[in-house]
Amino acid sequence: MVDIAPLLERELGADKVIQRGDERLDDYGHDENPIPQQFLPDCAVLATTADEVAAVLRLCAEHGVPVTPRGAGSGLCGGCLPIAGGVVLSTEKMKRILEIDPDDLVAVVEPGVITGELQSAVEEQGMFYPPDPASLEYCSIGGNAATNAGGPRAFKYGVTREYVLGLDVALMGGERLRVGRRTSKGVTGYDLVAGFVGSEGTFGVITELTLKLLPRPQAASTVLAVFADTQAAGTCISALLRSGLRPRALEIADKSSIDHIRPKSRYRFPENAGAIVLIEVDGDPDEMGGQMERIGMACDERGALDVLAAQDAAERRALWEARRLISSSLKEAHRIKINEDVCVPRGAIVEMLRRCDQLAAKSGVQITVFGHAGDGNLHVNLLSDADPADPAVTGHLYEVTRELFAHTIALRGTLSGEHGIGLSKRDFMSMEQSEQVLEWQRKWKRMWDPRELLNPGKVLPPSTRRCSE
Ligand SMILES: Cc1cc2nc3c(=O)[nH]c(=O)nc-3n(C[C@H](O)[C@H](O)[C@H](O)COP(=O)(O)OP(=O)(O)OC[C@H]3O[C@@H](n4cnc5c(N)ncnc54)[C@H](O)[C@@H]3O)c2cc1C
Repeated sequence: MVDIAPLLERELGADKVIQRGDERLDDYGHDENPIPQQFLPDCAVLATTADEVAAVLRLCAEHGVPVTPRGAGSGLCGGCLPIAGGVVLSTEKMKRILEIDPDDLVAVVEPGVITGELQSAVEEQGMFYPPDPASLEYCSIGGNAATNAGGPRAFKYGVTREYVLGLDVALMGGERLRVGRRTSKGVTGYDLVAGFVGSEGTFGVITELTLKLLPRPQAASTVLAVFADTQAAGTCISALLRSGLRPRALEIADKSSIDHIRPKSRYRFPENAGAIVLIEVDGDPDEMGGQMERIGMACDERGALDVLAAQDAAERRALWEARRLISSSLKEAHRIKINEDVCVPRGAIVEMLRRCDQLAAKSGVQITVFGHAGDGNLHVNLLSDADPADPAVTGHLYEVTRELFAHTIALRGTLSGEHGIGLSKRDFMSMEQSEQVLEWQRKWKRMWDPRELLNPGKVLPPSTRRCSE
């Protein structure tokens, strides 16, 4: 492979290129994927404009060098790892909010804008950008669009895809393309935006996004209900889903989650707490009281041990803090934390929780479950204190993961509700999708990137078909 770094330096300037020998390059060889995987690229480019992104893609295509797009590197499935070497193309410096328009209810942003910073900026102007991945303080909007990220509020407001109206993208070879629109409705031509959103950096590099905004809800209220076990909590969730209530978030966490956050949480969980359900509603301030009452009654009827309603914004924040502490507390407490994000149909939530308990008992692996129960999207965490570099340990965890996915598919669920497939779930794809469907996706990928230089080896497993087929 040609030594691409000097060519990129000449084109973009030395300050934009991090080369081998510079210890900063290590940061571009991993993401938040838990099994230690380090793939050092030949160099990393910190692009500051769409022209620079296009120039990198042109030069690399000319010389047959692989390119891996990278946002903030918070991904959990190895999507931004440069597994074939070559160039990591980072958008972290493209951080400008170009426009927030209250009349059109749109924001136009560069891909490196941090999600939480965009949310604060639009909320200051009375608007609302709902997608709220738990990583919102450090993940980027470009990465969110590339992975079609979700979060607790997806239950009412949907995931990132619902908010991406238009995209500017640069393709391998350097061609630039504007797809989509600025209007809230629009059915002109094929929906190319929908194709780029969730393509995990394998179709093109997003250089600008036009995002839909909503008016900011005037009020929000939050309830925490404590149950004896996940079965009782799951039954309450099913009842709430049938009741016609439309919370903006409906979250669950199991006993192990509670035990991990208990020492840090301001809320004193009852000793016999076996599961919690966090419910948040929003809308008209006059309707909050009535909605909270209905939720409280539904929880009581399903045997809640305690129901706590936040009375003000500070109490709401404290309840969410408890929920957000779970992931980091698990990470602090264990050497290995594999956070899967399976999604099952809503009617199968209780059964999926039961199967997770069974899988933990059978495999001897500690399994902790929390997540977006309203969407059936459960973060099933496989935890271990063994050496992450020991192949016997990772091999066992791989098999337990396979079994988890088998249960998910048996319940008509899907491998990933929000994190994406990337590298770590690629080889499980054929458990869910037929070879025929995978082959059509390979053709789609080759349409944008015929030489498969852009983020190679991600999402789609290698074809099992023979050449003559
Ligand atoms: C503690 C924690 C909590 C999390 N919670 C959630 C959650 O609630 N919901 C959720 O959905 N995810 C969650 N995640 C996962 C992660 O934050 C999301 O997947 C996020 O969208 C990744 O954004 P990023 O900017 O870090 O992208 P990266 O990790 O840098 O990249 C992710 C993928 O997007 C591609 N990509 C990045 N930028 C571009 C671009 N400009 N153009 C084309 N492709 C690009 C990369 O090639 C890669 O395939 C969590 C992660 C952590 C560590």
